[in-house]
Amino acid sequence: MRGKEQSVTCDSCGRSVPRSKAVAFQKAISFGTELRNPENDVRFFERRKVYYCISCAKHRGIFERLKDQAARHRQY
Ligand SMILES: [Zn+2]
Repeated sequence: MRGKEQSVTCDSCGRSVPRSKAVAFQKAISFGTELRNPENDVRFFERRKVYYCISCAKHRGIFERLKDQAARHRQY
């Protein structure tokens, strides 16, 4: 929609929030595969981008975690 701000859905409460007021967070989801065996622990990590509204982000400590993530990225 033109001129209208894009809205995203909060991953926690399901509320629809304007993109500019949402907090983007990279969630890492790990899952095993059938390739996995005792000698070779094959796991896939899927990074999914989720959005939280401000209150859920605060409640879940997302701001703190984002700071951690930023610090970790700087090490690479
Ligand atoms: Zn929320």
